[in-house]
Amino acid sequence: MFLRRVTHWAKTFHLCAGVRLTYRVPNMTRPSSDLTQFRKDFAKAKHIAIITGAGVSAESGVPTFRGAGGYWRKWQAQVTHMINVIHFFPLLFAVFLLLCYFPCKQPYLSISLQDLATPGAFSRDPSLVWEFYHYRREVMSSKEPNAAHMSIAECEARLSQQGRSVVVITQNIDELHYRAGSRNILELHGSLFKTRCMSCGEVKANHTSPICPALEGKGAPDPEAKEARIPVNDLPRCERRGCHGLLRPYVVWFGEALDSDILSSVEEELEKCDLCLVVGTSSIVYPAAMFAPQVAARGVPVAEFNTESTPATMRFMYHFEGPCGTILPPALARHESEPI
Ligand SMILES: [Zn+2]
Repeated sequence: MFLRRVTHWAKTFHLCAGVRLTYRVPNMTRPSSDLTQFRKDFAKAKHIAIITGAGVSAESGVPTFRGAGGYWRKWQAQVTHMINVIHFFPLLFAVFLLLCYFPCKQPYLSISLQDLATPGAFSRDPSLVWEFYHYRREVMSSKEPNAAHMSIAECEARLSQQGRSVVVITQNIDELHYRAGSRNILELHGSLFKTRCMSCGEVKANHTSPICPALEGKGAPDPEAKEARIPVNDLPRCERRGCHGLLRPYVVWFGEALDSDILSSVEEELEKCDLCLVVGTSSIVYPAAMFAPQVAARGVPVAEFNTESTPATMRFMYHFEGPCGTILPPALARHESEPI
């Protein structure tokens, strides 16, 4: 697993290197929280790139599977680090096993969600993986875009009438930006509501609920839920004439490279943007974490909007702290210099 992780990071770093942005020594001056000054830069900007992450979705109640309670059955996001460590330290492994045998309420034997979101997991047990993604699709049907999504979409629509552009570069797979009205969106990690055929490769939008009859009522997240064990022929299948291949969620799984066409488009957008916003992302997931610091390194104003400081905060010109749905709308509202 560790080697796979390293390989994955190496891949994403490699892909990131393909973005070919210069990287200079970071500016370590404390970033400004002066909204008036930011608004002056906003009013001048012709091409605005907005990088968004899980924090924006979390404010709509979308589960991130991180932190306390972030389980789907026995799978959890963070335990993987512990498992990586025990590969190398037999003593820790022994302690880990002891902990597992102690009577306790916490599921210490939980497994990383990263082991569920992989091509290997899908080929071993497509029914289980589809249960997980079916659950996530169904959860999304009860969620709505929040004020942060809406302000970004409204800004794009308004500025496009002035010959200015806004692009959303998102790590989120929930389509909430689209539902809010954004149209210029680059989805780095794919979408919960798209499928790819394992046979013919067709990528298709799919908002059907449930995605197939066999998944109806399946995918419950509680640890006691029984696995559906759906026969592979009853899982979502390709509707192309003569194909009938097995469909998979069109999301980037651990161990997979990001789409090269999307990365090329991201490269173009980052090279032409004259203002960059980083919204609700912890700046630790690569390659997205590299994008904004590299834009900042060529002297373009970068503004971070987040509930806390991140490892990249000191590289940026602006940092605004708080819930994105509260702090973003006033930042992106119509500037007095804009025509009505
Ligand atoms: Zn097909």
